[in-house]
Amino acid sequence: MRIAVFSTKSYDQEYFEKYNKEYNYSFSYYETALNPDTAKLSTDCDVVCVFVNDIVDENTIKILSKNGIKLIALRCAGYNNVDLDAAAKENIKVVRVPAYSPEAVAEHALALILTLNRKTHKAYNRVREGNFSLKNLIGFNLSNKTIGVIGTGKIGETFCKILNGFGCKIIAYDIAENENVTALGVEYMSLEKVFEQADVLSLHCPLNKHTKHLVNKASIETMKDGVMIINTSRGALIKTEDAIEGLKNKKIGYLGIDVYEQEENLFFEDLSEIIIEDDMILRLLSFPNVLITSHQAYFTKEAMDQITITTLENITAFDQNKALKNEVKQ
Ligand code: NAD
Repeated sequence: MRIAVFSTKSYDQEYFEKYNKEYNYSFSYYETALNPDTAKLSTDCDVVCVFVNDIVDENTIKILSKNGIKLIALRCAGYNNVDLDAAAKENIKVVRVPAYSPEAVAEHALALILTLNRKTHKAYNRVREGNFSLKNLIGFNLSNKTIGVIGTGKIGETFCKILNGFGCKIIAYDIAENENVTALGVEYMSLEKVFEQADVLSLHCPLNKHTKHLVNKASIETMKDGVMIINTSRGALIKTEDAIEGLKNKKIGYLGIDVYEQEENLFFEDLSEIIIEDDMILRLLSFPNVLITSHQAYFTKEAMDQITITTLENITAFDQNKALKNEVKQ
């Protein structure tokens, strides 16, 4: 099997090389993202391996099909960037890594909450410059605060377990209730009630046509004054311009995001010497109560091990004509 790996960073290659010793596949690594312009690089390959910001739309898929690609192997859980109908039409299978480390993402959501709240990032810089003042560093106790969780699947459940340890009241909304979450004492309620009651709102549902712009002008208006919103799921769950408005009129007290609606042109790259044309991210960066990380919630050693092993296992199952347990269908 020849595999074209798109959006490759040095760490992706390092992990594939580490585990490929047991599989012996032939990899072609491309730093560029997969899109209709770069799909031609898949010539002579059987599989393309892609990540969160590769554009696997109908145009891309048609070119992949012409090149003889039979499998799209996502090395991530979310698959909102793949046109599943187009893949099915071209008889290309799609596989993903449904669960690699819910702890990695849930723990990062907690890191965003604690950093925004206790302002450790500001304290670190202050103290390094000999400024030992506490002015404006005041936070709040998480204990007894109401945490609203949208989406209580693998990551949401792990997040609930962690926040339980802080003595929080946890309320949740999901289209399907998870009994492990109910067993933790989490109370399910309507989406509207979660928006109304949460001091901290954390998003853990997938991006799809039902969840796009879940956080928007209308829903923000129903939230508590000074609400903290955390998004480690997918950028477009939040309508960015409405969040900016909510920050400007002080309805939103804190915003912590690991994902951003237009992240594909920014995240994972060093743009420090480039003029950034995206005015919305620059506006977001100008707020003292906004914390942005560039899609790193998944990025732990344990998660990278699991992503790599599952991806190689997915490819092997396809290669050996076995059932694809991690197949994504429409
Ligand atoms: P999961 O499938 O285990 O759980 C998703 C949950 O969302 C399910 O319980 C599902 O019923 C619920 N859901 C679906 N539609 C909903 C809706 N309309 N409203 C409310 N809930 C809804 O997935 P997971 O492993 O917990 O991952 C959740 C998301 O986290 C993924 O879809 C992905 O986008 C994101 N993610 C981000 C990173 C990162 O590095 N930032 C890493 C992994 C996953």
